[in-house]
Amino acid sequence: MFIDTHSHLNFSDFNEDYPDVIERAKSVGIIAILNVGADLPTSKRAIDLAQKEDLCYATVGVHPTNTNNLKAKDYSGLEELARKKKVVAIGEIGLDYFHNKVAKEIQEVSFKQQILIAERLALPVIIHNRDANPDTLAILKEKGIRGVMHCFSGDINFARAILSLGLYISFTGNLTYKKNESLREVAREIPLRRMLLETDCPYLPPQSKRGMRNEPSFLIYTAEELARIKGVALEKLGEVTSKNAEDLFKLARLKPRTTFSFT
Ligand SMILES: [Zn+2]
Repeated sequence: MFIDTHSHLNFSDFNEDYPDVIERAKSVGIIAILNVGADLPTSKRAIDLAQKEDLCYATVGVHPTNTNNLKAKDYSGLEELARKKKVVAIGEIGLDYFHNKVAKEIQEVSFKQQILIAERLALPVIIHNRDANPDTLAILKEKGIRGVMHCFSGDINFARAILSLGLYISFTGNLTYKKNESLREVAREIPLRRMLLETDCPYLPPQSKRGMRNEPSFLIYTAEELARIKGVALEKLGEVTSKNAEDLFKLARLKPRTTFSFT
């Protein structure tokens, strides 16, 4: 069993065929999919999917590259959405200095505002960080919140700093990329009990699916790579990372009739 902790079936890429995509995910042992919001409309769509589809959960948040022109009413709208059933985190939120679309100051204000929402609702956060390690760390240190660094691509020092804040580290298909030996080195060093798996689909398909639209069933390739790196059986890797996700996002609480059985 596996949990895709960061997926975007809420994006228009999947409008036509998301039921088939979910069936394929089930067929490879995916037991939960967290669809992550990147703005208000995609957050709403994530909630719609969570209400329709047993396997799906939602997170709500505004991605740093979409934070221009956010008003007080947008934050209150977001908080309203975050109170809906099956919303398990605030995200994705953070800092992105790579795309350079929004001024740093604006991104920072928005990141902090959304962390406050997470605090008020006792939800974890899903953090997007690109080329902003020191500033991201500074904010996380100041705030002290539960959460995960999504699509980890930093070095071992950054990984250690993240772990020391009590956060989880999540890997995508980029772990399987031929040239990404340095990321595999980092994964080797990090304890399994602090790791999560994700696809970030439709983006970042694993090596064998490059050029295609990514989807939750492809999580298995990243899982296989991580199992190989950690020297554990695939099944064990699935159990541990699913348990981690279940702990962080408190999934069992929301699904009383499903038994998440971990050994
Ligand atoms: Zn994402």
